[in-house]
Amino acid sequence: MDTKRKELEKLFGSRLRQNEPMSAHTTFKIGGPAQYYLDVDKTEDIVKAVKAAKRLGIPLFIFGGGSNIIISDNGMKGLVIKNNCRKFDVFQMSGRIKNQKIDLAKALVFAEGGVIMNQLVRFTIEQSLGGLEYQLGLPGTVGGGVCMNSNFPRIGVYVGDCLYSAKLVTKDGEVKEVDNSYFHFAYDKSILQESKEIVLSVVFRLSPEDKKILWERGMEALDYRNSTQPKGASAGCTFRNISIVDAMRVPTPDRITSAGYLIDKTGLKGKRIGDAMISDMHANFILNMGHAKAEDVLALVNLIKDEVKRKFDVPLHLEVKTIGF
Ligand SMILES: Cc1cc2nc3c(=O)[nH]c(=O)nc-3n(C[C@H](O)[C@H](O)[C@H](O)COP(=O)(O)OP(=O)(O)OC[C@H]3O[C@@H](n4cnc5c(N)ncnc54)[C@H](O)[C@@H]3O)c2cc1C
Repeated sequence: MDTKRKELEKLFGSRLRQNEPMSAHTTFKIGGPAQYYLDVDKTEDIVKAVKAAKRLGIPLFIFGGGSNIIISDNGMKGLVIKNNCRKFDVFQMSGRIKNQKIDLAKALVFAEGGVIMNQLVRFTIEQSLGGLEYQLGLPGTVGGGVCMNSNFPRIGVYVGDCLYSAKLVTKDGEVKEVDNSYFHFAYDKSILQESKEIVLSVVFRLSPEDKKILWERGMEALDYRNSTQPKGASAGCTFRNISIVDAMRVPTPDRITSAGYLIDKTGLKGKRIGDAMISDMHANFILNMGHAKAEDVLALVNLIKDEVKRKFDVPLHLEVKTIGF
Protein backbone atom coordinates (compact mmCIF):
# COMPACT_ATOMS: atom_id res chain seq x y z
CA MET A 1 0.00 0.00 0.00
CA ASP A 2 1.21 3.51 -0.86
CA THR A 3 1.96 5.01 2.58
CA LYS A 4 2.33 8.54 1.21
CA ARG A 5 -1.09 8.34 -0.36
CA LYS A 6 -2.50 7.07 2.95
CA GLU A 7 -0.99 10.02 4.80
CA LEU A 8 -2.39 12.49 2.28
CA GLU A 9 -5.83 10.84 2.38
CA LYS A 10 -5.83 11.16 6.16
CA LEU A 11 -5.45 14.91 5.72
CA PHE A 12 -7.62 15.54 2.68
CA GLY A 13 -9.95 12.54 2.46
CA SER A 14 -11.57 11.71 -0.86
CA ARG A 15 -10.60 15.12 -2.25
CA LEU A 16 -7.19 13.64 -2.99
CA ARG A 17 -7.02 12.29 -6.54
CA GLN A 18 -4.38 10.07 -8.07
CA ASN A 19 -3.06 10.15 -11.61
CA GLU A 20 -5.15 13.17 -12.52
CA PRO A 21 -4.59 14.08 -16.22
CA MET A 22 -3.08 17.56 -16.25
CA SER A 23 -4.20 18.07 -19.85
CA ALA A 24 -7.64 18.73 -18.36
CA HIS A 25 -6.29 21.66 -16.34
CA THR A 26 -3.98 23.57 -18.69
CA THR A 27 -4.99 26.02 -21.40
CA PHE A 28 -2.60 24.13 -23.72
CA LYS A 29 -4.63 20.93 -23.07
CA ILE A 30 -1.29 19.17 -22.67
CA GLY A 31 0.17 17.29 -19.71
CA GLY A 32 0.40 13.76 -18.33
CA PRO A 33 -0.91 12.57 -14.94
CA ALA A 34 -0.23 14.24 -11.59
CA GLN A 35 0.70 11.53 -9.07
CA TYR A 36 -1.37 13.18 -6.31
CA TYR A 37 -3.77 16.02 -7.10
CA LEU A 38 -5.77 18.31 -4.86
CA ASP A 39 -8.33 21.04 -5.56
CA VAL A 40 -8.02 23.54 -2.74
CA ASP A 41 -10.46 26.31 -1.83
CA LYS A 42 -9.13 27.31 1.60
CA THR A 43 -5.71 28.90 2.04
CA GLU A 44 -5.24 26.89 5.29
CA ASP A 45 -5.32 23.75 3.13
CA ILE A 46 -2.47 25.09 0.99
CA VAL A 47 -0.35 25.52 4.11
CA LYS A 48 -1.36 22.04 5.28
CA ALA A 49 -0.41 20.56 1.91
CA VAL A 50 2.98 22.30 1.87
CA LYS A 51 3.79 20.95 5.33
CA ALA A 52 2.63 17.45 4.38
CA ALA A 53 4.71 17.40 1.19
CA LYS A 54 7.77 18.45 3.15
CA ARG A 55 7.17 15.82 5.83
CA LEU A 56 6.67 13.10 3.21
CA GLY A 57 9.64 14.25 1.12
CA ILE A 58 7.63 14.65 -2.09
CA PRO A 59 7.73 17.54 -4.61
CA LEU A 60 4.90 20.06 -4.51
CA PHE A 61 3.62 22.21 -7.35
CA ILE A 62 0.85 24.81 -7.30
CA PHE A 63 -0.93 26.21 -10.30
CA GLY A 64 -3.85 28.54 -10.94
CA GLY A 65 -5.24 28.92 -14.45
CA GLY A 66 -2.60 26.65 -16.00
CA SER A 67 -2.18 29.28 -18.73
CA ASN A 68 1.60 29.63 -18.68
CA ILE A 69 2.83 26.06 -18.22
CA ILE A 70 3.88 23.11 -20.36
CA ILE A 71 3.62 19.86 -18.43
CA SER A 72 5.52 16.76 -19.50
CA ASP A 73 3.61 13.95 -21.24
CA ASN A 74 4.98 11.67 -18.51
CA GLY A 75 3.24 13.75 -15.89
CA MET A 76 4.44 14.96 -12.52
CA LYS A 77 5.64 13.24 -9.38
CA GLY A 78 4.45 14.42 -5.98
CA LEU A 79 1.52 16.62 -4.95
CA VAL A 80 -0.07 19.07 -7.37
CA ILE A 81 -2.36 21.75 -5.99
CA LYS A 82 -4.97 23.52 -8.07
CA ASN A 83 -5.59 26.86 -6.36
CA ASN A 84 -9.30 27.58 -6.16
CA CYS A 85 -9.06 30.01 -3.20
CA ARG A 86 -11.17 32.81 -4.60
CA LYS A 87 -12.16 35.29 -1.89
CA PHE A 88 -11.70 38.97 -2.58
CA ASP A 89 -12.82 42.21 -0.96
CA VAL A 90 -12.27 45.95 -0.86
CA PHE A 91 -10.94 46.07 2.65
CA GLN A 92 -9.80 49.61 3.19
CA MET A 93 -10.66 52.95 1.66
CA SER A 94 -9.37 56.29 2.78
CA GLY A 95 -9.81 59.91 1.77
CA ARG A 96 -11.45 63.04 3.07
CA ILE A 97 -14.54 65.17 2.63
CA LYS A 98 -13.76 68.12 0.39
CA ASN A 99 -16.41 70.69 -0.56
CA GLN A 100 -19.01 68.34 0.89
CA LYS A 101 -17.93 65.60 -1.51
CA ILE A 102 -16.03 62.40 -0.79
CA ASP A 103 -12.48 62.70 -2.07
CA LEU A 104 -11.20 59.14 -2.03
CA ALA A 105 -7.38 58.89 -1.96
CA LYS A 106 -6.74 55.16 -2.13
CA ALA A 107 -8.30 51.75 -1.73
CA LEU A 108 -6.77 48.48 -0.68
CA VAL A 109 -8.24 45.42 -2.40
CA PHE A 110 -7.63 41.98 -0.92
CA ALA A 111 -7.57 38.90 -3.16
CA GLU A 112 -6.68 35.28 -2.54
CA GLY A 113 -4.18 33.70 -4.95
CA GLY A 114 -6.79 31.63 -6.81
CA VAL A 115 -9.01 34.59 -7.75
CA ILE A 116 -9.53 34.71 -11.52
CA MET A 117 -7.60 37.79 -12.60
CA ASN A 118 -10.11 38.81 -15.23
CA GLN A 119 -12.98 38.75 -12.73
CA LEU A 120 -10.98 40.82 -10.24
CA VAL A 121 -10.16 43.35 -12.96
CA ARG A 122 -13.83 43.70 -13.89
CA PHE A 123 -14.75 44.09 -10.22
CA THR A 124 -12.15 46.80 -9.58
CA ILE A 125 -13.18 48.74 -12.69
CA GLU A 126 -16.81 48.60 -11.58
CA GLN A 127 -15.71 49.97 -8.18
CA SER A 128 -13.99 52.86 -10.06
CA LEU A 129 -10.59 51.69 -8.83
CA GLY A 130 -7.63 52.03 -11.18
CA GLY A 131 -4.41 50.02 -11.40
CA LEU A 132 -5.42 46.65 -12.81
CA GLU A 133 -7.53 47.75 -15.78
CA TYR A 134 -4.92 46.96 -18.45
CA GLN A 135 -4.98 43.32 -17.32
CA LEU A 136 -8.51 42.91 -18.73
CA GLY A 137 -8.45 39.69 -20.76
CA LEU A 138 -5.35 38.30 -19.01
CA PRO A 139 -6.01 34.58 -18.47
CA GLY A 140 -5.21 32.88 -15.17
CA THR A 141 -5.23 33.76 -11.50
CA VAL A 142 -3.86 36.41 -9.19
CA GLY A 143 -1.17 34.00 -7.87
CA GLY A 144 0.03 33.10 -11.37
CA GLY A 145 -0.06 36.77 -12.42
CA VAL A 146 2.07 37.78 -9.43
CA CYS A 147 4.53 34.89 -9.85
CA MET A 148 5.00 35.73 -13.55
CA ASN A 149 4.57 39.51 -13.10
CA SER A 150 2.21 39.28 -16.06
CA ASN A 151 1.66 42.37 -18.11
CA PHE A 152 0.11 44.32 -20.89
CA PRO A 153 3.28 44.58 -22.95
CA ARG A 154 2.13 47.23 -25.42
CA ILE A 155 2.40 49.92 -22.77
CA GLY A 156 4.41 48.04 -20.14
CA VAL A 157 1.91 47.78 -17.27
CA TYR A 158 2.58 44.91 -14.86
CA VAL A 159 0.48 43.08 -12.26
CA GLY A 160 3.24 43.79 -9.72
CA ASP A 161 2.95 47.57 -10.24
CA CYS A 162 0.04 47.96 -7.85
CA LEU A 163 0.83 45.11 -5.45
CA TYR A 164 1.00 46.54 -1.93
CA SER A 165 1.59 43.48 0.26
CA ALA A 166 1.14 39.71 0.23
CA LYS A 167 0.84 36.70 2.44
CA LEU A 168 3.11 33.85 1.32
CA VAL A 169 3.85 30.35 2.48
CA THR A 170 7.47 29.20 2.23
CA LYS A 171 8.66 25.73 1.13
CA ASP A 172 8.89 24.86 4.84
CA GLY A 173 5.28 25.79 5.53
CA GLU A 174 6.05 29.07 7.29
CA VAL A 175 3.50 31.83 6.61
CA LYS A 176 4.87 35.35 6.21
CA GLU A 177 3.73 38.83 5.19
CA VAL A 178 5.83 40.77 2.72
CA ASP A 179 5.62 44.06 0.84
CA ASN A 180 6.14 44.92 -2.83
CA SER A 181 9.93 45.27 -2.57
CA TYR A 182 10.25 41.61 -1.55
CA PHE A 183 9.21 40.41 -5.01
CA HIS A 184 12.00 42.07 -7.05
CA PHE A 185 9.49 42.47 -9.87
CA ALA A 186 10.97 42.79 -13.36
CA TYR A 187 9.73 41.99 -16.86
CA ASP A 188 7.99 38.56 -16.55
CA LYS A 189 9.88 37.92 -13.30
CA SER A 190 9.36 37.79 -9.56
CA ILE A 191 11.39 36.25 -6.77
CA LEU A 192 8.75 33.52 -6.45
CA GLN A 193 10.11 31.81 -9.57
CA GLU A 194 13.28 30.98 -7.59
CA SER A 195 12.05 30.89 -3.99
CA LYS A 196 9.10 28.62 -4.87
CA GLU A 197 7.04 30.39 -2.21
CA ILE A 198 3.30 30.37 -2.72
CA VAL A 199 0.97 33.37 -2.79
CA LEU A 200 -1.87 32.77 -0.35
CA SER A 201 -3.29 36.27 -0.80
CA VAL A 202 -2.33 39.76 -1.88
CA VAL A 203 -3.40 43.32 -1.28
CA PHE A 204 -3.45 45.65 -4.27
CA ARG A 205 -3.27 49.39 -3.70
CA LEU A 206 -5.59 51.02 -6.22
CA SER A 207 -6.56 54.61 -6.91
CA PRO A 208 -10.00 56.09 -7.45
CA GLU A 209 -10.63 56.95 -11.07
CA ASP A 210 -13.46 57.57 -13.46
CA LYS A 211 -15.12 54.23 -14.25
CA LYS A 212 -15.70 55.22 -17.88
CA ILE A 213 -12.00 55.91 -18.41
CA LEU A 214 -11.06 52.64 -16.70
CA TRP A 215 -13.40 50.69 -19.00
CA GLU A 216 -11.91 52.50 -22.01
CA ARG A 217 -8.37 51.48 -20.98
CA GLY A 218 -9.49 47.95 -20.16
CA MET A 219 -11.25 47.58 -23.52
CA GLU A 220 -8.19 48.98 -25.31
CA ALA A 221 -6.10 46.20 -23.74
CA LEU A 222 -8.74 43.54 -24.38
CA ASP A 223 -9.18 44.58 -28.04
CA TYR A 224 -5.40 44.58 -28.50
CA ARG A 225 -5.12 41.08 -27.01
CA ASN A 226 -8.02 39.82 -29.13
CA SER A 227 -6.62 41.29 -32.33
CA THR A 228 -3.02 40.11 -31.84
CA GLN A 229 -3.34 36.78 -30.01
CA PRO A 230 -4.60 33.67 -31.81
CA LYS A 231 -7.64 31.76 -30.55
CA GLY A 232 -7.18 28.11 -29.63
CA ALA A 233 -5.27 26.06 -27.09
CA SER A 234 -1.92 27.60 -26.14
CA ALA A 235 0.15 28.76 -23.20
CA GLY A 236 0.43 32.35 -24.42
CA CYS A 237 3.78 33.72 -25.55
CA THR A 238 6.36 30.95 -25.67
CA PHE A 239 9.52 33.08 -25.41
CA ARG A 240 10.48 36.17 -23.46
CA ASN A 241 11.15 39.25 -25.53
CA ILE A 242 14.76 39.85 -26.52
CA SER A 243 17.07 42.40 -24.90
CA ILE A 244 17.30 45.94 -26.22
CA VAL A 245 21.01 45.29 -26.92
CA ASP A 246 20.09 42.38 -29.21
CA ALA A 247 17.29 44.44 -30.80
CA MET A 248 19.82 47.19 -31.64
CA ARG A 249 22.37 44.71 -32.95
CA VAL A 250 19.98 42.83 -35.29
CA PRO A 251 18.63 45.60 -35.81
CA THR A 252 14.85 45.23 -35.55
CA PRO A 253 12.56 47.98 -36.95
CA ASP A 254 12.22 50.76 -34.33
CA ARG A 255 14.39 48.52 -32.08
CA ILE A 256 11.33 46.44 -31.12
CA THR A 257 12.23 43.65 -28.69
CA SER A 258 9.53 41.26 -29.90
CA ALA A 259 10.65 37.62 -30.00
CA GLY A 260 7.69 37.05 -32.36
CA TYR A 261 9.23 39.43 -34.90
CA LEU A 262 12.44 37.36 -35.12
CA ILE A 263 10.54 34.06 -35.29
CA ASP A 264 8.36 35.50 -38.07
CA LYS A 265 11.50 36.44 -40.03
CA THR A 266 12.81 32.84 -39.89
CA GLY A 267 9.75 31.88 -41.97
CA LEU A 268 8.59 29.35 -39.39
CA LYS A 269 5.01 30.63 -39.05
CA GLY A 270 2.61 27.75 -39.66
CA LYS A 271 5.34 25.12 -39.11
CA ARG A 272 3.82 22.00 -37.56
CA ILE A 273 5.26 19.06 -35.62
CA GLY A 274 2.60 16.51 -34.76
CA ASP A 275 -0.41 18.55 -33.66
CA ALA A 276 1.70 21.47 -32.39
CA MET A 277 1.87 24.45 -34.72
CA ILE A 278 3.54 27.86 -34.72
CA SER A 279 0.65 30.30 -35.06
CA ASP A 280 0.13 31.99 -38.44
CA MET A 281 -1.11 35.07 -36.60
CA HIS A 282 1.51 35.53 -33.85
CA ALA A 283 4.79 33.65 -34.26
CA ASN A 284 5.50 33.61 -30.50
CA PHE A 285 2.38 31.46 -29.92
CA ILE A 286 2.46 27.68 -30.33
CA LEU A 287 -0.99 26.16 -30.75
CA ASN A 288 -2.28 22.72 -29.90
CA MET A 289 -4.29 21.84 -33.03
CA GLY A 290 -5.82 18.70 -31.53
CA HIS A 291 -3.79 16.12 -29.70
CA ALA A 292 -0.37 17.75 -29.46
CA LYS A 293 2.14 16.27 -27.04
CA ALA A 294 4.51 18.28 -24.87
CA GLU A 295 7.23 16.51 -26.83
CA ASP A 296 5.94 18.07 -30.10
CA VAL A 297 5.85 21.52 -28.52
CA LEU A 298 9.41 21.19 -27.23
CA ALA A 299 10.59 20.01 -30.66
CA LEU A 300 9.14 23.25 -32.11
CA VAL A 301 10.71 25.26 -29.27
CA ASN A 302 14.15 23.83 -30.11
CA LEU A 303 13.65 24.39 -33.83
CA ILE A 304 12.72 28.04 -33.23
CA LYS A 305 15.69 28.58 -30.89
CA ASP A 306 18.10 27.06 -33.42
CA GLU A 307 16.74 29.04 -36.37
CA VAL A 308 16.71 32.38 -34.53
CA LYS A 309 20.24 31.77 -33.24
CA ARG A 310 21.46 30.78 -36.72
CA LYS A 311 19.83 33.70 -38.54
CA PHE A 312 20.26 36.52 -35.98
CA ASP A 313 22.72 35.15 -33.40
CA VAL A 314 20.13 35.95 -30.72
CA PRO A 315 19.42 33.46 -27.90
CA LEU A 316 15.73 33.03 -27.07
CA HIS A 317 14.62 32.18 -23.53
CA LEU A 318 11.36 30.50 -22.58
CA GLU A 319 8.66 32.56 -20.90
CA VAL A 320 6.42 29.53 -20.30
CA LYS A 321 7.38 27.27 -17.43
CA THR A 322 8.18 23.66 -18.31
CA ILE A 323 7.22 21.22 -15.57
CA GLY A 324 8.06 17.57 -15.01
CA PHE A 325 10.84 17.25 -17.61
C1 LIG B 1 -4.23 33.11 -24.71
C2 LIG B 1 -3.24 33.59 -23.68
C3 LIG B 1 -2.95 34.94 -23.60
C4 LIG B 1 -2.02 35.42 -22.67
N1 LIG B 1 -1.77 36.76 -22.61
C5 LIG B 1 -0.88 37.23 -21.74
C6 LIG B 1 -0.61 38.64 -21.67
O1 LIG B 1 -1.22 39.46 -22.35
N2 LIG B 1 0.34 39.04 -20.78
C7 LIG B 1 1.02 38.18 -19.99
O2 LIG B 1 1.87 38.61 -19.20
N3 LIG B 1 0.76 36.85 -20.02
C8 LIG B 1 -0.16 36.35 -20.86
N4 LIG B 1 -0.43 35.01 -20.89
C9 LIG B 1 0.28 34.10 -19.98
C10 LIG B 1 -0.52 33.79 -18.67
O3 LIG B 1 -1.88 33.98 -18.88
C11 LIG B 1 -0.08 34.68 -17.50
O4 LIG B 1 1.28 34.49 -17.21
C12 LIG B 1 -0.92 34.39 -16.24
O5 LIG B 1 -0.76 35.44 -15.33
C13 LIG B 1 -0.59 33.05 -15.58
O6 LIG B 1 -1.53 32.81 -14.56
P1 LIG B 1 -1.99 31.32 -14.21
O7 LIG B 1 -2.80 31.37 -12.97
O8 LIG B 1 -2.60 30.67 -15.37
O9 LIG B 1 -0.56 30.66 -13.90
P2 LIG B 1 -0.20 29.10 -14.07
O10 LIG B 1 0.03 28.80 -15.51
O11 LIG B 1 -1.17 28.28 -13.33
O12 LIG B 1 1.21 29.09 -13.33
C14 LIG B 1 2.29 29.83 -13.86
C15 LIG B 1 3.42 29.86 -12.81
O13 LIG B 1 2.93 30.56 -11.67
C16 LIG B 1 3.07 29.74 -10.51
N5 LIG B 1 1.92 29.99 -9.62
C17 LIG B 1 0.60 29.85 -9.89
N6 LIG B 1 -0.13 30.16 -8.81
C18 LIG B 1 0.75 30.52 -7.84
C19 LIG B 1 0.63 30.95 -6.49
N7 LIG B 1 -0.58 31.06 -5.87
N8 LIG B 1 1.75 31.24 -5.78
C20 LIG B 1 2.98 31.13 -6.36
N9 LIG B 1 3.17 30.72 -7.63
C21 LIG B 1 2.06 30.42 -8.36
C22 LIG B 1 3.06 28.30 -11.03
O14 LIG B 1 3.71 27.43 -10.11
C23 LIG B 1 3.81 28.45 -12.34
O15 LIG B 1 5.21 28.45 -12.12
C24 LIG B 1 -1.37 34.50 -21.80
C25 LIG B 1 -1.68 33.14 -21.87
C26 LIG B 1 -2.61 32.69 -22.79
C27 LIG B 1 -2.96 31.22 -22.83
